[in-house]
Amino acid sequence: MSRATDVSISTSGLRKEFGKITALDGIDVDIQGSQIVGLVGPNGAGKTTMIRCLLGLTGASSGDSEINGTPSGDLDRTDRADLGYMPQEEAVYRNLTVRENVEFFANLYRVPERESAVDQALAFVGLRDREHSRIGELSGGMVRRTSLACTLVGDPDVVFLDEPTVGLDPKLRSEMWDRFRDRRDDGSLLVVSTHYLGEAHNCDRVLFLRDGDVLAFENPDTLLERDDVEDLEDAFLQLLEEDDAAQAADAAAAGPAGGSDA
Ligand code: ATP
Repeated sequence: MSRATDVSISTSGLRKEFGKITALDGIDVDIQGSQIVGLVGPNGAGKTTMIRCLLGLTGASSGDSEINGTPSGDLDRTDRADLGYMPQEEAVYRNLTVRENVEFFANLYRVPERESAVDQALAFVGLRDREHSRIGELSGGMVRRTSLACTLVGDPDVVFLDEPTVGLDPKLRSEMWDRFRDRRDDGSLLVVSTHYLGEAHNCDRVLFLRDGDVLAFENPDTLLERDDVEDLEDAFLQLLEEDDAAQAADAAAAGPAGGSDA
């Protein structure tokens, strides 16, 4: 399997506003080389928005972002052939079989040697034995795995997976992470969003977002050592408490007039 050696993602001052909501508040990250980056944070933290801005699916309000050195807004069909995106919502056709869905995406991405690529993608997610089942006949976990096969059939170098393990039982979740590590070891750069904080230990680095701000971008072990805690959930809770305290201190410094200009 061939792989680009210089996979990368970078952002500089990436900001996205939806009316009065600031979904991304000036994000600066530099990610070089194959690895798994966990995108972690509470509901509404900005995880999906960040993925969509990076992929050029929604325009940033200001700032810059690039994938493999190409600005997100300039990604063309050739660039996109190297990218994979599994959205949070179901993105498969319910009236098609598992195999027909994966074949559809293989056609869309103009994958060479299509049949063997489809076989490989189905084997990768462990669905060869259900390839002729219609989507409506599958369990939720199997539907997620079909989506993953559709995302990976083009053998992308940079892969964005938005909550791929949501709703899966612990065994399936663990199997999914094994597969993500296989991709990483094969040279891919994966960005995986999750709100299961405990899953972050599967990542090489964790980008912890809250209200569009980066609270930490660290290796999981560094997070544990920094906060001297037993598990990552505690580390993230500590980060949230520190952020609360910093915001309260800022509000106090601004004085009574700071929040009463309505
Ligand atoms: P979740 O874990 O719930 O999926 P998330 O971290 O992915 O959340 P986003 O979906 O990126 O968060 O949303 C960030 C903020 O931007 C939220 O306040 C959300 O309501 C807002 N937002 C996202 N998309 C839109 C939109 N199209 N229009 C208006 N507001 C939006």
